[in-house]
Amino acid sequence: MSGQCDICGKSPTWGHNVSFSHRVTNRQWRPNIQHARLTINGQVRRVNVCTRCLRTLQKAPTKKQAAGK
Ligand SMILES: [Zn+2]
Repeated sequence: MSGQCDICGKSPTWGHNVSFSHRVTNRQWRPNIQHARLTINGQVRRVNVCTRCLRTLQKAPTKKQAAGK
């Protein structure tokens, strides 16, 4: 499974877990990537997209976006 969003390019990022006793261990944050069949420019394609992009694609355009600004 790909860890990267095909639309926005969001990918894993790294940091530290820090316990109460301040033991520092490495950890990774993964984006929530889902397989989806999307119609892009009239073509149905299987893509790996993050849930944030999926939500944005399903949302109705705002008044500003509908006016083309
Ligand atoms: Zn995305």
